[in-house]
Amino acid sequence: MSESIETVLVWFRNDLRVEDHQSLHKAMTTQKRVIAYYAFSPKYFEINKWGFKKTDKFRTQFLIDSVLDLKKALAKLNISLIIDLKAPESSLPEYIHQYQVETIFLQKEWTSEEKKQEEEIAQKVETSLQWERSYDQFLLHPDDLPFSVDQTPEVFGNYRKKCEKEVSVRTLIATHNALPVTNLIELETPLPKLSDLGLEDIDLDARTAFPFKGGTQNALDRLDDYFWKSKKLSYYKNTRNGLIGPDYSSKFSPWLASGSLSPKMIYWEIKRYEKEIQKNQSTYWLIFELIWRDYFKCISLKHGTKIFKIGGILNRKYPWNDSQKIFEQWANGQTPEAFVNAHMIEMNRTGWMSNRGRQNVASYFAKDLKMDWRIGAAYFESQLIDYDVHSNYGNWMYVSGVGNDPRDRKFDVRWQAERYDPQAKFQNLWLQKTLF
Ligand SMILES: Cc1cc2nc3c(=O)[nH]c(=O)nc-3n(C[C@H](O)[C@H](O)[C@H](O)COP(=O)(O)OP(=O)(O)OC[C@H]3O[C@@H](n4cnc5c(N)ncnc54)[C@H](O)[C@@H]3O)c2cc1C
Repeated sequence: MSESIETVLVWFRNDLRVEDHQSLHKAMTTQKRVIAYYAFSPKYFEINKWGFKKTDKFRTQFLIDSVLDLKKALAKLNISLIIDLKAPESSLPEYIHQYQVETIFLQKEWTSEEKKQEEEIAQKVETSLQWERSYDQFLLHPDDLPFSVDQTPEVFGNYRKKCEKEVSVRTLIATHNALPVTNLIELETPLPKLSDLGLEDIDLDARTAFPFKGGTQNALDRLDDYFWKSKKLSYYKNTRNGLIGPDYSSKFSPWLASGSLSPKMIYWEIKRYEKEIQKNQSTYWLIFELIWRDYFKCISLKHGTKIFKIGGILNRKYPWNDSQKIFEQWANGQTPEAFVNAHMIEMNRTGWMSNRGRQNVASYFAKDLKMDWRIGAAYFESQLIDYDVHSNYGNWMYVSGVGNDPRDRKFDVRWQAERYDPQAKFQNLWLQKTLF
């Protein structure tokens, strides 16, 4: 293809799918050549100021798998995916120039790192370049909310009730037929391996709650198992505080965070399940949790960079500690609390921790150890397969008393261990010395 063909580019970041994808859909209706782009920016793998990698091996491997799956799905649509190992702010302008891209289609992000990337690119390219941004990560589209996002209620219950009463979930966006084969460009950009990104290989721990593998196909397989084959969805409300094994909760979060699955895809499957199998409190509760996910996105839209500040959205002043030694004891699972340690070891070994575990270790870090909660949040960011900026910082603020918990609760970790791990099965699983 000659380089003067009118071209548009879809920039994939946290939306690694072709189904229910607004930006891809819009790009494919332009009648222009469509190319796609994803970057494993070296910045994601740098060591942060607290001495650990911003993104460690578990999420990275998951992303590599997800991008491979995306590449294959795009190939079926005759769209080439450029996989970049450089920072997009340095090399995307070159691709834009080389292919004379007129429009970039992308999911609308608003957190500081993503905005800075976009601003730097905009400074390096022609001012005529069009940017088409779409919100594509929500269950309830922000434009449909019964209030402007600036007016998002600070108490989740108020937000949820208003939304449940007044907002409908939009239908899925159709996937296009393949473009003509002439849409493909001649450029082969290989996927990186962990070692190319300066990360160690994964030695999979047999105790893992779930063998996560990235990509939409794996997400759909999990959905099929959890909903249709095992019908575990019917019991979700009773099992969701579990700690061991694949089925106490949906395990959808890594695919939601990377965008291999959209929340609408899950919602409409729940609705089908309610029609065809059963509608009960559990089927509702999974939707309820997806609304929590949306809520933290609205909170971060409303409060901007405050979600990264020590005082959080409340501007609270607490005497925070930042001892490296205390942080390391917590991170390595060497505190005096076995329940906390077992969870930290689980996350270090697998990139996963249950919601119950996250609440406990975060509360212990912020409220017992009185450590700067942002160090704990950054450690989760580094380790978790399902790291999502809004859910992570929103939940950390909530648990640390600088966010949306109107009651500012503290978890009694010993009571929690007795309640949720009465026979210490979970603690024994992760604290047994022989396996290390
Ligand atoms: C300190 C702390 C940090 C967290 N960091 C993250 C994070 O980085 N990424 C992330 O996706 N979740 C985060 N969570 C929320 C929650 O723990 C996970 O979403 C959940 O454990 C994922 O497991 P699941 O997919 O099986 O969830 P399920 O229980 O099956 O719930 C279904 C979906 O609902 C959403 N959801 C459930 N609970 C929450 C919640 N409390 N807040 C926001 N969304 C929720 C998730 O997308 C989840 O996949 C955090 C929670 C805490 C307390």
